[in-house]
Order: sequence, then structure tokens, then C-alpha cells
Amino acid sequence: MNESNAVAHPHEHAEASNNNGSVLGMAAEGENVSRPIRELVSEVEWETRVNLAAAYRLMVKYGMTDMIYNHITARLPDRTDEFLINAYGLHYSEITASNLHRVNHDGEITMRGNSHYGINYPGFIIHGAVHLARPDVNCVIHTHTRAGIAVSAMSVGVLPLSLFGMRFAKNIGYHDCEGTVVKMDERETLARDLGGHDVMMLRNHGLIACGPTIAQAFNTHYMLETACKIQVDAMCSGTELVMPPDEVVQETARLFQPGVRRAYGVMEWEAMLRLLDREDPAYRE
Ligand SMILES: [Zn+2]
Repeated sequence: MNESNAVAHPHEHAEASNNNGSVLGMAAEGENVSRPIRELVSEVEWETRVNLAAAYRLMVKYGMTDMIYNHITARLPDRTDEFLINAYGLHYSEITASNLHRVNHDGEITMRGNSHYGINYPGFIIHGAVHLARPDVNCVIHTHTRAGIAVSAMSVGVLPLSLFGMRFAKNIGYHDCEGTVVKMDERETLARDLGGHDVMMLRNHGLIACGPTIAQAFNTHYMLETACKIQVDAMCSGTELVMPPDEVVQETARLFQPGVRRAYGVMEWEAMLRLLDREDPAYRE
């Protein structure tokens, strides 16, 4: 796809149709809180901010970004009707604990992070839909990765071609493409199609993973993305593919479910934070 032609990015159409014709919450240049964000928020909010900023940086590390687009959100433990989202205009490599915005379910910024950028409206619709419908979900990740969109366009969906694929083969929602996500009533179909799953494919659009913790949601998204990469590679090979027996798929999927063997993503998360801290701990600021 030629990005330099006149066709805007899918999310740019969305902002054009937004009521005020601009990005929500865009501030005047220089409008910023004067005290450090860390002094203005609770301890648990700060901890959530640090972990969420880490998740953004890890998406860069693992090649799951789309320029300035996409979002990862985290519900606040002490303000369960509000969640943190990235300032729309920053690259994921620029996200820090202090420049995340806190928003409510009406799309209002209730605490502006250290950024003059606003929030992305489709991002608010998609993530808000999941946070509203699923009180058990505290983190939602949405991506436009090449492999994820490729598999989302395959009528067969995720196939159990690898252990990663087996994890999701029977445990995933599918949401048919309704175009660019700009209508609030798509929240209902998004929530319906996700159901009780922790992952969903947005047909011809991308992936969603969610979970009770940022660590778990990241781990789940990493696995789903890996399943998609493997599936695309295997299907492109042109050779006949081997499908494992259904009982093997079922049992493997069961063993991979969060909590069956151990808390999901927790042990990995500590290593992920060490990885970031060795290279650039600025996400913590
Ligand atoms: Zn999207």
C-alpha cells in the first residue's frame, strides 16, 4: 500500500467526522499542568502509568506499532470509571508515565498528561467499548500489525498451526468490519462479538487483546501476534499443512488459559521491565 497517496489513514477519516472536527481534547500550545503528574495522582495510578508506558515501549520492541496510531488503555484501580490512553500524536517510543491522558467514558480528559496532543476518537470508542462491557478487563491492546490484519482477512480465522495458534483457535471473537470505527453504536457489536474472550479479530482491520492486568494483556497479544505471523508464513509456503488432532488442540488451549498453570504473564513481565530498564528507563518518567 502506498502511504504517500491521497488516501488518508483509516483513523484520519474518523477525526474528520468527529463532532468538533478535530482530535478530542487537543490543547493550546503550552497548556500543561505545572506540577509533576506523579505528585498529582495516587500511588496505584502512578504504578499503572509506569506499567502502561512500559507496554507501549514493548510494542515498539516487538514491532507491533503503526506510526502514531493504535492504543493501549488501562483502567485505573482507584477510579474504575476512568482509564489511561496515549496522547494521539506521540510515537509509542515517546510514551512515558507522565504523558498519558486519563479519560472517562464520555471521552473527556479528566487529567491531561504532559502533552499538548489530544486523544483519538476511534481509539476511545473501541477501548471504551471493552472497558464498559467487561468489568474484569483492566487493559485493552489494539494493533494494526501486518500479520494480524492478514489473518483477520482470512475466512478461516486463526488456525491451530502452532502452539500459539492452538491457544486461540477456539477462544477468540470475530468482529465483521463496519468501516472506520467512528459510531458510538458500534460499541454494542464490538462488546457482543468479544463476548467473554480475551482476544478478538477485527475483520480486515486488526487485533484486540485484553486482560485483568497489563502484563497479561501484553502476553496474550504477543502470543496472538506470533500465532498470526506463523500462520501467514506457513500458508504462504505453498506446501501441504498439518493440522493437529482436535483433542490436542483442545487440551493445549486449556493449558494455555490464564490461571491453569500459573498467573499469566507475571513472570514474563518482570523480565520485560528489566529489558526496558537496561536499554532506556525513560518510560518511567
Ligand atoms: Zn484500528
